[in-house]
Amino acid sequence: MNKQQIDEIRTRYNKATSRYLTEAEYREVYREWEGDIEMLLDYIETLEAEIATDDKLLADHKALLDKIPECPDHGSSCLPHAREWVEKVQAENARLRDCLGAANRRYEWMAARYHTFRALSGIEVIKDGDSQ
Ligand SMILES: [Zn+2]
Repeated sequence: MNKQQIDEIRTRYNKATSRYLTEAEYREVYREWEGDIEMLLDYIETLEAEIATDDKLLADHKALLDKIPECPDHGSSCLPHAREWVEKVQAENARLRDCLGAANRRYEWMAARYHTFRALSGIEVIKDGDSQ
């Protein structure tokens, strides 16, 4: 149901009730309107469901924003600040991932040389289990 349909119903209703109706006329108008009333009630139900969904989305947004430190200028619901903060965390995560990758490569490089040294020299520099 759209705004035009609602306007049509309103116009018909106003026209039909713009003068005094006898009981018989009233019954006839009412019969005619039963279908419209059903439609309007269905529409109200749809709107209520949409509002419930919107409320849930708003609650989800608020819960998400609550996990982000407040904007120093605008408080807890500042979206530009939230976006900036998330981008900063993403960049920091990427940097940490790079550091971890470099550390892993360095460890593999040293481990390979250690095993080569041990194999060639027979000297046990670190006993198995000591590295932990
Ligand atoms: Zn802000």
